[in-house]
Amino acid sequence: MSRDEETTRELLVELLGVFYGKGWVSGTGGGICGPADGGGLLLAPTGVHKERIQPDEFFTIDPADGRVLASPDDASLRPSECNAIFSMTARERGARSVVHSHALSAVLAGDLARVGDVDHVAIRDLEMLKGVRGLTNRDTHLVPVIRNTPRESELTEQLARVLDDPRFASSFAVVVADHGAYIWGDDVWEAKRHTEVYHFLFEAVVARRDRQKERT
Ligand SMILES: [Zn+2]
Repeated sequence: MSRDEETTRELLVELLGVFYGKGWVSGTGGGICGPADGGGLLLAPTGVHKERIQPDEFFTIDPADGRVLASPDDASLRPSECNAIFSMTARERGARSVVHSHALSAVLAGDLARVGDVDHVAIRDLEMLKGVRGLTNRDTHLVPVIRNTPRESELTEQLARVLDDPRFASSFAVVVADHGAYIWGDDVWEAKRHTEVYHFLFEAVVARRDRQKERT
């Protein structure tokens, strides 16, 4: 294993701890992936306490088809259900790191789309938009919202559709209604920045909508 991959494993572990502290990967939900040696993706295991994952507990998957290339020594661990979604985001958007969040703010942002009977959340008039690569604070940014399914792997059909939709070409996030969000970047640091920025944006649109309701 290269020094780069060792560093990435340590960074992913650190971020899971930070995100756990923010309530984004609590209750064993959520997940993360990052670049492995040889073009693979390091994938966290499923159903485990995300803040306790160790650097040697990641799977390596091939984003071309989600195949497991290498497994951790602990045979009780299973690869995250995010596998298919992470692989598709890597193929379609060139993402080398993806975060899956179960944050309440993402769920509440998804509710706004349902209330408005649209397939997206529109975000505008926020300085923080500059934190998303390619955006300015004058943009109206559309983040797609897809329906939840009984299993995470069944989200891929809807995901393929929104990743292909030109309205969402500038988005580095997809909200899953009643569930959470997938947020990505070119590398782990960009995925981290986008994860922080999008959670701020979700909280902001939800809070503003609540305030608007109080006024009317
Ligand atoms: Zn999930």
